[in-house]
Amino acid sequence: MKVLVLGAGQLARMMALAGAPLNISISAYDVNSDSIVHPLTQQNLGKGLANAIADADVVTAEFEHIPLPVLAQCQQSGKFFPGEAAIKAGGDRRLEKQLLDSAGVRSASYHIINNEADFNAAISKLGLPLVFKSALAGYDGKGQWRLKQPGQAAALWQDISAFLAADNKQAIVAEQFIPFQREVSLIGARNSRGEVQVYPLTENHHVNGVLSVSLAIAGNEQLQQQAQQMFTAVANQLNYVGVLAIEFFDVNGELLVNEIAPRVHNSGHWTQQGADVCQFEQHLRAVCVLPLGSTALLRPSLMVNILGEDTVPEQILALPGLHLHWYGKSKRAGRKMGHINLSADNNAQLKQRFEQLIALLPAAAFPELAQMADRLN
Ligand code: ATP
Ligand code: MG
Ligand code: MG
Repeated sequence: MKVLVLGAGQLARMMALAGAPLNISISAYDVNSDSIVHPLTQQNLGKGLANAIADADVVTAEFEHIPLPVLAQCQQSGKFFPGEAAIKAGGDRRLEKQLLDSAGVRSASYHIINNEADFNAAISKLGLPLVFKSALAGYDGKGQWRLKQPGQAAALWQDISAFLAADNKQAIVAEQFIPFQREVSLIGARNSRGEVQVYPLTENHHVNGVLSVSLAIAGNEQLQQQAQQMFTAVANQLNYVGVLAIEFFDVNGELLVNEIAPRVHNSGHWTQQGADVCQFEQHLRAVCVLPLGSTALLRPSLMVNILGEDTVPEQILALPGLHLHWYGKSKRAGRKMGHINLSADNNAQLKQRFEQLIALLPAAAFPELAQMADRLN
């Protein structure tokens, strides 16, 4: 099978690595250079998008910020999964909120802002504190503003109106600030027969708005059921085919959806070593109409992102249960360069290994890991 992936980053790379044993070969469309590249070497394959679509058995995507004409072109081919509507819903927070409402799943109350009257209406309707998010193109917490005090509203409107004026296709979605205890995500797959398989929930820790650590949490049946029910509602609403990720706020055991990602997800990287079939293979199985695999947790697992660093101490590779994944990208401050997966036979051993790992990593490049280790038991 030949799969064309829209986007040529680490997610396409890891799909290529997972697809090889199944004889699934991947080419990747680099949106920035408008070229088809090899997902591992980034070598330009000298082919246009139209030819690449024609050559592929299946077209899919590794991110949601794709030019709309490209999405339309892929949709036209009849081989694009999860398809245009799902990718658009992941890339535009207005459509995303509509989707969540029509699927009947809880999320933060919101108001869409195009002008000053909307801005004032958002404050009076929703109250403070508020989170403002750009409707398009936000990731890693970028394109967001917070409003805590009424006295700061005028200054904030200056910032937001300048942002709106700079791009007339933009809008802002204002959301109630949710006082969550923690953030969790659910990664799962739905196939064209409507079958759904989800992984155990993942607890996610962010530093400065960027994911730092994800920890697989098995055993909380009540929370898992709730997440799975919401996942299924959203996936069914989209008639979704492929892997889908949903980020949630956990408020005293009640889940609210934060956002969705219509693709494999950073918080699911632990499945490469911690689950029976990893999210990358599972996604390829779903879009290639192969049977879905088992999502069972093999052993307690976590993932640590490597941000802005192109080396880590080699000794970490000597730790049992540790796997290092580089993305082959050039170094840039804060950039997702790779990740470390760590697994163990039981939770106590995972905590012990995590502490050993933390002791070997440079603390400045890996902040706040010790606090996260404290959460393991
Ligand atoms: P990602 O890289 O996950 O795509 P993003 O830029 O799309 O990030 P969000 O996930 O919407 O942004 O928000 C980033 C973080 O900001 C969240 O993980 C959460 O910690 C915080 N946050 C977002 N919305 C709210 C909210 N309504 N209430 C409280 N905190 C929020
Ligand atoms: Mg996002
Ligand atoms: Mg997010």
